[in-house]
Amino acid sequence: MKALQYRRFGAGPEVVEIDRPAPGPGEVLVKITASGICHSDEHVMSLPAEHFPYAMPQTLGHEPAGTVAEVGAGVTRIELGTPVVVYGPWGCGWCAMCADGTENLCLTGMTAPGLGSPGAMAEYMIVDDVRHLVPIGDFDPVSAAPLTDAALTSYQAIKSVMNRFVAGSTTVVIGAGGLGHMAIQLLRALTGTRVIALDLGEARLAFAREVGAHAAVESNREAGSTVREMTGGRGADVVLDFVGTDITGRLAVACGGVGSSVVLIGAGGGGVTIGLTSAPLNMTVSTSFWGRRQELIELVAMARRGQISVRTTTFPLDEGPRAYELLRRGEIRGRGVIVPA
Ligand SMILES: [Zn+2]
Ligand SMILES: [Zn+2]
Repeated sequence: MKALQYRRFGAGPEVVEIDRPAPGPGEVLVKITASGICHSDEHVMSLPAEHFPYAMPQTLGHEPAGTVAEVGAGVTRIELGTPVVVYGPWGCGWCAMCADGTENLCLTGMTAPGLGSPGAMAEYMIVDDVRHLVPIGDFDPVSAAPLTDAALTSYQAIKSVMNRFVAGSTTVVIGAGGLGHMAIQLLRALTGTRVIALDLGEARLAFAREVGAHAAVESNREAGSTVREMTGGRGADVVLDFVGTDITGRLAVACGGVGSSVVLIGAGGGGVTIGLTSAPLNMTVSTSFWGRRQELIELVAMARRGQISVRTTTFPLDEGPRAYELLRRGEIRGRGVIVPA
């Protein structure tokens, strides 16, 4: 079968021919119908060899949708042909976090397809346990795949500060790409907050407005004071940083008001420094990584009701390397999705 693999440090991913895997006991073979592409793959591929955390080569892809093609010994609870999305952060299933459905924070260290285990940028992939499958019925798999990360990660970040979206509140979303465009829609569907998106270039700002941002502002040195002006001098109540560089970290602090919450989500390799005298008083900074298993089930239900819709740009598997190049240049509208067939 064909697969998109990261094979050489410092080079882009390559399309290669590898053996189709067979499911072992308890495992499920999924035939991939759609696989979202993510900035965190870019981040991983940018790491020097000595910091690369996985075995090489690495088949990419942690946002899978597909159908159950084959099951290993002992798997009885799912029928062949069932359309599913795959919950990506695979925890141990035993620890206190996993017991709560929070496998993304597994205390023994989670693995994930495309981030340690063979990923979904291939014609088939192995899923380690039937509990990581969420049936999607007749819902479009291309729209469903990004629910597993782009939407799920945004959803957990929003839920982590849900008590902050009081009447009259303002929320800044930094980065209106794959994750940010889902966050804007989720904020509009779940809260009454005013949403200000920050991004670069008129096309991306127009896209942010199109998916529901009340306002979209060029993300430059003045953006913090612009947000402050737009909020009558107070600053935003919540800032969600989907980029995660030191530059956006400083911007997030500049946008937030007294008592505000800043949530860092983007895997840009940077962060935020605050101090009592160098940040708004009682500002809270937290991080948010991926999401819980039951939250993916909630999002599938929400998407099937039409309350959120993933905007996608699709590519055949052979164009995977070009898709990552476009992602790196910020030229993909919404979420890029690889469609193998
Ligand atoms: Zn991701
Ligand atoms: Zn665990």
